[in-house]
Amino acid sequence: MNSAQNRSKQRVALVTGSTSGIGMAIAQQLALDGFTIAFHSKSSVKAGEKLAQAYIGASYTQADLADQNQVRRLIKDVLLHHNRLDVLVNNAGINAVIPHTALKEATAEIWRQLYEVNVIAPWILIAEAEAALRAASSQQCPSCILNISSHAGVRPKGASIPYAASKAALNHMTKLLAMNLAPEIRVNAIAPGLVNTPMTLNWTAAQTLWQERSPMGRGAQPAEIAQVASMLIASHYLTGEIVICDGGLNLT
Ligand code: NAD
Repeated sequence: MNSAQNRSKQRVALVTGSTSGIGMAIAQQLALDGFTIAFHSKSSVKAGEKLAQAYIGASYTQADLADQNQVRRLIKDVLLHHNRLDVLVNNAGINAVIPHTALKEATAEIWRQLYEVNVIAPWILIAEAEAALRAASSQQCPSCILNISSHAGVRPKGASIPYAASKAALNHMTKLLAMNLAPEIRVNAIAPGLVNTPMTLNWTAAQTLWQERSPMGRGAQPAEIAQVASMLIASHYLTGEIVICDGGLNLT
């Protein structure tokens, strides 16, 4: 049997950083949508293994995306386990909170760390996954990449300038790849505003801003970002879109 015959008909989605926050909500939503899920995290191995056991056919892989060898191993392990990949969600990301006026606090080391995880890792994951995504794609149902960026990558906002710039790079990469991977692979991004996750637990100024200024009067729940992810993945046509999910704050 060749590898195409070996490949299961069950569609597979890899969601990076899927043991907490937005990533976990997206993975759980995609499981409800009928995907087999490849869970991943940097360090919460027990939580990842528990999630993989809870969903039929699911797998879990630990990999530190700041290490390019581990980034490559993640795709290899997922393909070894599932023998196909239809959807790649680049959700894992890191942040640094630095006042925008404190230029010297935003050191070269911080810039490099943020670029490594938020920009270079998604790039390598996409490059390594491209062949499998093309193989799983059909005219009726193209494969799909979804990048989780940030409203800070669209507007001059965010926890720090290096973070915002790394997410702007991810948004631009999304559009460039949408041009170049079509029609077999669609590439879109969600740019969330404030979302209530472990990352933002103590961001009281942002909580107040969203309560007082945003038309929706609050930050989002992870499940609300997952609902948009599900919609973008379900589309067979949309590509190159950066969908701002900030409860309308950008209108004010
Ligand atoms: P979170 O801290 O709950 O999740 C971040 C995930 O990234 C974790 O699962 C973690 O394991 C993973 N990760 C971090 N560094 C990693 C590394 N070196 N290797 C592998 N995995 C690593 O935070 P979240 O709020 O759910 O964030 C998810 C994504 O959404 C991030 O890309 C973040 O920048 C983006 N985002 C979040 C918000 C928000 O308000 N929460 C807003 C805009 C964008």
